[in-house]
Amino acid sequence: MFKLIKKVLKTGNQTVAYPASPLYVDPNFRGKPVYDPHQCIACGACANACPSNALTMATDSENGTIRWSFFLGRCIFCARCEEVCPTTAIRLSQEFELAVWRKEDLYERADFSICHCRECGKPYAPQKEIDYAMALLQQSGNLSESQAETRRAQFETCPSCKQQQNLTHSRRIDVGRYLNREAQ
Ligand code: SF4
Ligand code: SF4
Repeated sequence: MFKLIKKVLKTGNQTVAYPASPLYVDPNFRGKPVYDPHQCIACGACANACPSNALTMATDSENGTIRWSFFLGRCIFCARCEEVCPTTAIRLSQEFELAVWRKEDLYERADFSICHCRECGKPYAPQKEIDYAMALLQQSGNLSESQAETRRAQFETCPSCKQQQNLTHSRRIDVGRYLNREAQ
């Protein structure tokens, strides 16, 4: 018995006082993903990268919105979303106390307006994403402020309509020109 007491005194306290006192969390700990809708451009990169489908994007054509959704119950804290987000809108925090009373509290959502193609009117891309791309081009000096406004229509046209606009009508293709050149 005396030996045991001696051993205990020598070893000291090996437990922590949590939850009576805060628990030390390593700076590299991957806890609850924290999302900032103001930073988000609704690009969907995080939803594409999320291996467990905790992050999803859904288009609501009727309301003209795109919804970003996060379900914490599916998250495996892999941090792929943080890695791929171009605007640091989602980051893993050190929060580990994740219990909630209602399942609904595990969900987080944000709605963004959709840009409709100027030609065909179909939902094309999140308006915020287009504005962000234009702002980046302006910032890098590849697009002046005056050009930005004149080229907005081009940015707000879907790829298939752009393709149609760039096609040369068959009546305007002069095949004979090439045939004559061959004959010479
Ligand atoms: S941490 Fe991983 S599982 Fe969780 S939301 Fe991000 S990508 Fe998905
Ligand atoms: S990757 Fe970032 S900016 Fe893109 S939808 Fe996800 S949180 Fe938003």
